[in-house]
Amino acid sequence: MSENEATTSHPESANEGGDKENEFLEPENKRRKTTPSSDKKYKLEERLGGILCCAVCLDLPKAAVYQCSNGHLMCAGCFTHLLADARSRDDTPTCPTCRVEICKTTATRNLAVENAVSELPSECQFCNKQFPRNSLERHEQEECEERVSGCKYHRIGCPWRGPFHEKTNHEQECGHPKKSGAEVMEALEILDQKVMEERKLYKAIFELLGYDKITFNDIQLKPYRSDDFVHRLLYESSRFYVSGHQWLVKAKITENQKDPTQNSERVMTYQLVLKSKVSTALSLSYIVLCGPVGDIKVQPRVYKFDFTEHENETPYETFPLIDAAECNRLLAAKTINFRLIMFWASN
Ligand SMILES: [Zn+2]
Ligand SMILES: [Zn+2]
Ligand SMILES: [Zn+2]
Ligand SMILES: [Zn+2]
Repeated sequence: MSENEATTSHPESANEGGDKENEFLEPENKRRKTTPSSDKKYKLEERLGGILCCAVCLDLPKAAVYQCSNGHLMCAGCFTHLLADARSRDDTPTCPTCRVEICKTTATRNLAVENAVSELPSECQFCNKQFPRNSLERHEQEECEERVSGCKYHRIGCPWRGPFHEKTNHEQECGHPKKSGAEVMEALEILDQKVMEERKLYKAIFELLGYDKITFNDIQLKPYRSDDFVHRLLYESSRFYVSGHQWLVKAKITENQKDPTQNSERVMTYQLVLKSKVSTALSLSYIVLCGPVGDIKVQPRVYKFDFTEHENETPYETFPLIDAAECNRLLAAKTINFRLIMFWASN
């Protein structure tokens, strides 16, 4: 409001007085800087967000920012995606805004934008206060008084979870330390089981690392709405080539409503589709990992599928995100980046 008044009073005061007023009149270009833009209702950080966002996915970049020789910005995920996309089509990658050719050597990082973005405010998911992006992760993991934490006796079965500022009070009153050894056995067995499962997973991964063929592809999923009767949010990658075959990844979000009184839990599932025909069966194992340009939090899980002439799609498997909150975070982003590792033995 006060800014509003300031602009309208400018021309009047200039008209009223003579030379004396002019003496204090700022040069034209400087004055323009201090007058609010036409989007007065938007805060500075929102306007900056619109300027510093990636030209492809329109998100604020979380890691490196690249620019074409004309200065159009791209986040690292979209940049590598453009390069990979062009490579798979045997085409020259171009800037989506101005069509100038881009490649790893002509595109440059833009550190000023990276630093500016990391200073923009971002909201803590627990206390809803705003923090610079570069300190948000530390705040959410180590400092926020509202962050969800567990009781230190969780290993002997205490299921308590609550805001960090209630943790000390709870632990003083927690009944679990007073339980007998026989009573805590059950909790220890569950813990043992978890460790065994983890060990099985690592054993499986180490075995896969011995396979003849291992490839990885950095995949970017883009959302679209289905044309079905019920519009659904679906994701698809562009096609990529592995061992002479064409592949793509599809993903979808399902609402997993176990208890109608509770908020539905969102789950993301994905499938791997073989677009070309195989004459002999291809027994493939695959894992989704974070990759160098993404920031998804996954717990690795190995899936296996036998592709044949008639079976060219894996079932929709759970995209192994650490929790439902991570799923919501991905939904809020415009694209999802991850690394897909594929293992198979040659016949
Ligand atoms: Zn982007
Ligand atoms: Zn450009
Ligand atoms: Zn917080
Ligand atoms: Zn407890």
